[in-house]
Amino acid sequence: MTEKTSTSRQPAIIIGLIALCVVLFWSLVAKHVEPTASAYDASQSQTATEQQEVIKWKLVTTWPKNFPGLGSAAENFSRVVEDMSNGRLTVKVYGAGELVPALGVFDAVSSGSVEAGHGAAYYWKGKIPAAQFFTSVPFGMNAQEMNGWLHYGGGLELWRELYEPFNLIPFAGGNTGVQMAGWFNKEINSVDDLKGLKMRIPGLGGEVLNRAGGSSINIPGGELYTALQTGVIDATEWVGPYNDLAFGFHQVAKYYYYPGWHEPGPTLELIVNKDAYEALAPDLKAIVDAASRMANQDMLDEYTARNNAALQELVNEYGVQVRRLPDEVLIRLHEISDEIYAEQAEKDENFKKVYTAYKAFAEGARNYHKISDQAYFEVRDLETTE
Ligand code: CA
Repeated sequence: MTEKTSTSRQPAIIIGLIALCVVLFWSLVAKHVEPTASAYDASQSQTATEQQEVIKWKLVTTWPKNFPGLGSAAENFSRVVEDMSNGRLTVKVYGAGELVPALGVFDAVSSGSVEAGHGAAYYWKGKIPAAQFFTSVPFGMNAQEMNGWLHYGGGLELWRELYEPFNLIPFAGGNTGVQMAGWFNKEINSVDDLKGLKMRIPGLGGEVLNRAGGSSINIPGGELYTALQTGVIDATEWVGPYNDLAFGFHQVAKYYYYPGWHEPGPTLELIVNKDAYEALAPDLKAIVDAASRMANQDMLDEYTARNNAALQELVNEYGVQVRRLPDEVLIRLHEISDEIYAEQAEKDENFKKVYTAYKAFAEGARNYHKISDQAYFEVRDLETTE
């Protein structure tokens, strides 16, 4: 009897337990899912997207519209942001002078009159001397090392700290790789040949040349060809074969010197107004971050792919004479560069802080590259017998 009663109660107990589990399960599900459940409803989600405001950004650049190489990063950034956000964030690119002059980019984005800008941090050295480290400095890091420092070595955090008072968020926005030393109308065989040399060379490189006895002149890119042709300058640096060929410098200068000691791997910058960035939804912020990383790497890829073809054309079709700067000259320029860093670090606290961090990372990268990239470049050039 007892046994029978017990057996007859089992289904009821099981049903009771199942009911309890269902209730508990639903109470848990409801607790965790209910607040966001409507966002996962397909029809409501679609309606939300349709009703969502399209955010329209303006991006001003220091380059002419559609400028090869340097100008491609802003266009790439714009295209990727628009595609990835399905048109919820659009970025209209304006070339230099269209909305603001080339060197008005920083102020325009800082004030919020436009949301974004593309250029190079060393253009703002008058406001922020330490900004020069975020483009390139003489005998400094190459593209690979800069990217490592910025994204995994604390560089980007320092850069953002430096731009914080200007309400700006900087991102790496491209890299040209090692540039060429430039186009010269006289041979450079010794340090003495730098004396009296009138050369277009901006930034710290220009200061180094001045101290070596030369005379640095800053002339906008569009006027360089004429300046070289008429003898206003004896030499100019620009970028590398891909960009320089397009400018036609080979028509007005005899010698093409390397390496670009003054710009061994300049990072271009993408700046975003901090309020505009903070107003974005988390997914749009992630899209801006990802698009900048893409645009940064893409520029280096393009230069890597196109520089050699342009160099071959310069040499084989136009008879350009490619020359290496003598060791004596490079060593002297390196010594002067170190003197200038030490002096500027004494004058400016931020310069000192960034220089200290930059130098520590650069020394580590240099040390490791001696047995990796540098060693590999040397060994692959060893003569083989076949
Ligand atoms: Ca340059």
